[in-house]
Amino acid sequence: METVSCPICKKSMFHNPRYPNEVCKYCVAHATDGHGRFLKFYNRTISDGYIAFYADADGKEEYRSSACFINKKKCCAKEAKFGGIVVELVQMNPKKDKKLSPHKDLESTIRNRN
Ligand SMILES: [Zn+2]
Repeated sequence: METVSCPICKKSMFHNPRYPNEVCKYCVAHATDGHGRFLKFYNRTISDGYIAFYADADGKEEYRSSACFINKKKCCAKEAKFGGIVVELVQMNPKKDKKLSPHKDLESTIRNRN
């Protein structure tokens, strides 16, 4: 199987062509909300859906966004095609990335949820 470097920590990992900017599981374990609180990502059911919780709230406080930060880089967590959660680095491109504002992201997350 082909391997690539994690876009954040550069560890080698298996390459998944479906998610070219996927970050490795070690980085996912360090995902925060941007204010220093750690997050944990889960499937809403056994095999699909996306849900995130604050790691320090013992599963009681939901994190209502797909945006997260790893090593101060913005990432986006989502349901993977065949179950599980995939976290991808959001490529920063100030000229083209107007659509990826955090607010838009949050709105679409809320819409998809209902
Ligand atoms: Zn990594």
